[in-house]
Order: sequence, then C-alpha cells, then structure tokens
Amino acid sequence: MKQAINRIWNPEMECMDIDVRREMQSQKLRETVKRVYDNVEMYRSRMIDAGITPDDIKTVDDLSKLPFTDKPDLRDQFPYGLFASPRKDIVRIQGSSGTTGMPIVSGYTQQDIDDWTEMVTRSVAAAGGSDEDIVQVTYGYGLFTGGLGLHQGASNVGAMVVPMSSGNTVRQINMMKGLGVTMIGCTPSYALHIGETIREMGLDIKDFKLKAGIFGAEPWSDNIRNRIEDLLQIDALDIYGLTEICGPGVSFECLEKVGMHVNEDFVIPEIIDPDTLQPLPYGELGELVFSTIGKQGMPMLRYRTHDLCRLHPEKCACGRTTVRMERIIGRTDDMLIIRGVNVFPSQVETVLTNIRGVSPHFLMVVDREGSTDRLEIQVEVTEEMMGDTISAMQVLQKEIGEKVKSTLGVAARIKLVDPKTIPRFEGKARRVTDNRIL
Ligand code: AMP
Ligand code: ZN
Repeated sequence: MKQAINRIWNPEMECMDIDVRREMQSQKLRETVKRVYDNVEMYRSRMIDAGITPDDIKTVDDLSKLPFTDKPDLRDQFPYGLFASPRKDIVRIQGSSGTTGMPIVSGYTQQDIDDWTEMVTRSVAAAGGSDEDIVQVTYGYGLFTGGLGLHQGASNVGAMVVPMSSGNTVRQINMMKGLGVTMIGCTPSYALHIGETIREMGLDIKDFKLKAGIFGAEPWSDNIRNRIEDLLQIDALDIYGLTEICGPGVSFECLEKVGMHVNEDFVIPEIIDPDTLQPLPYGELGELVFSTIGKQGMPMLRYRTHDLCRLHPEKCACGRTTVRMERIIGRTDDMLIIRGVNVFPSQVETVLTNIRGVSPHFLMVVDREGSTDRLEIQVEVTEEMMGDTISAMQVLQKEIGEKVKSTLGVAARIKLVDPKTIPRFEGKARRVTDNRIL
C-alpha cells in the first residue's frame, strides 16, 4: 500500500487545548443564539415558549436549555423561514436528497462556504492530501453536498481536482489510471464497485497511483473498509456530514482510524437519549445532535440528526484534541440510504395511496448485489385488480415504478403480489427488510 501521511491542516484549531476551545465555543454559541433570536421567528417563539432569552445562554453547559430542531421544521419553514441573513447575502443553496413534497434546503453566505471549505480541507489533509495530489471527486455534484463539498476542500489544499461526479464506472477508472489519481472521494459502496470493476477489467491495481480515499454519505463498517483497502490498496477513511449542518466535513477520520474528529470550532455535538431527549455522557450510545456555531445563513440549534453513535473525548494519537464520533451504527427513525439517497418508507406509502388498483400494504426489500444497492417493493394489488388482464397489471407496475422513481429519487423493482399476502402488524408496521451486510 502506498503510504498516506498524517497532515494537520489547522493545528491551532484542531489541536487546541480543550478548555480554551470550550471558552471559544461558549462565545460563538452566545453569538449564534442572539443571531437566531433576532432573525428567525421560529427560534424566537420557541425560546419565548421555553421561558428563555439569549441572556440565559452563557456557556456550552446551557445548551440543554435550548429547543431542538428537526427535519419537519426545515420542511415547514421552506424556503427561507430559517435564514438568519438577508437574502442578498446568501450565495448558495444546497439540498437534501429523498424527501417528499417540500424539499429541504440550506442557505450559505460566503463566510459559510469558506467555513465549510475549511472543514472539508481538514478532512482531505487528514487523509494525507496536499498540493502534490490529484483528487477524483466521484460524489454527485448538484444540490447534494457531496460533490461540491469535497471539491472545495480538495481545491483548497491545492490538489488537482478531477470533478467526475458519480456514474460511468469504466470512465472513472480510465481517468483514475490515466491521470495518476492519488485520492478519491465517493460513497463506500461505490468505492467497492470501482475496486471490483478494476479487477473485472483485468487491470492491475499496482498500475494505479491511489493512496487514500475519503468515503461517506452512507453507513459502512470496518469489514467494508478492509475490503476497499485490499481492492484499491489505499487507506480508506470515513467522512460524515449532513446538509442541514453544512454537508460533508462535520467530522472526518484521521489515519489512526479510531473515529471521526468533529470540527468542534464550527459545531457542538451532543448525544441525547432519543426517548427522554436528555443529554447523555460521553461514551454512551444515543442520538447525535448538532448546534452550529458561527454559521450565518442558516444556523441550527440542537439539530436532531436521528443518527445513532457514541462520542469519545480522549486525545487522539494524531495530535488532534477534538471529540471523536464512532461510526454511525443506525438510525432512530426508518430512514434508509439507498445508493446514497435518503429514502423513507412513508414516501412509498404516499405514492401507493395515490394509485388505483393497489392497497397501501407494501414491503421494501433492500439487497446489495455486488456492491450496488437494489430496492424491490412488493405491492399488494386489490381484489378487483386481480380479475384484470395481464397487460393492465403491467401498466400498473410501470406506473408505480415511474412514480416511485420520481418521488424517491431511486429506481425500484416493483413486484405485484396477491391481496392479503403482505404481513399485517398490530404494532408499528415493519415495512423494510434490509438484507445488506455492511
Ligand atoms: P444528506 O443530508 O442527504 O447528505 O444525508 C445526511 C445523512 O447521511 C446523515 O444524517 C447520515 O444518516 C448519513 N451519512 C452521512 N455520512 C455518513 C457516514 N460517514 N456514515 C454513516 N452515515 C452517513
Ligand atoms: Zn486522530
């Protein structure tokens, strides 16, 4: 394996004394709270309802007095309700994948873009990236934060960036080999697919110059890491983020591979019990919550990610003092990530309830064929439909397929099944069978 070297982009911030950092976080938190109280109606009224004013928030310890923010808030406030800057200061919109009806958007001022770039730059440097590198960005470009996010960070370290976006694997591989690409960023499942395709094409990985990969946007495991590292002969590192906070770079792994360093000068992480909503101590498993500090365009107070993980505060062997996040081990809700797209079973339900001839009973079956996610949706047809012709069934199947694709943003194989064959549940319905082994 070609050796990637640990580089710390911003030692002052990344290796800061933890007490000094806490002081700085408290200061930035006070500013953020005042900013949203003065500019965002939803936050002001929630704080009033909770009986608090910005003066009640003095340090990070006061965080738990603040109200939470959740995904439906972003939908309700679409498009500009949560913006804390005048429209003319917003220079970019990014959006989250796979949500029904109202999209979820985040707005950035130039300062926000610069801060986000700094966060991803640290991630690229932590994977050994420098101006000597050639970085292939295979995350999708567009509203999704992956492509542009990594692009900005890789450019900022001075690397030569190859903005491939996703898809067309053979072309990706030819470019990678031809240009002598040294680093790649994409989803871990796509990295596996690239590795397997290189083998299938009969190419020898020794003829490539890859040394590290920055993989995120979906859950993965150390088993997948080992497989990618073996196939591509690289260090495979995890990167985490979400649109609501900024995008990738909220946290990132260093070459020690012992969890993702949270960029704590830009966000404050908490772990809460998802049932009681009470904060949990470091080391305990719970729901990850982030408050942005310093963000101007769309600051977030205590945003509930619904991602489950643990936080560890011990200083890392790499020299960074920032808190580390373990891999995301699950969700508190039923969100699935299929080929990088966030999908909720409720979206399928919405599609089906608007189509004649089917019942709202369905089962989503997710598999990984090779390294590609496949979604099958089993849909019960109605008794009346059963008497219909085969061609009518085919029309129905096609209609469901098209509507699912346009609503979810991912294609699914639709399997029509007989009435009353999908299990019924007395409690919470189980609509998903996820057969992927991560
Ligand atoms: P989006 O805003 O569309 O980029 O989706 C954000 C969500 O993707 C997060 O809340 C996580 O559930 C998931 N995600 C992003 N990065 C990772 C990662 N490194 N590991 C596991 N899940 C991730
Ligand atoms: Zn480290």
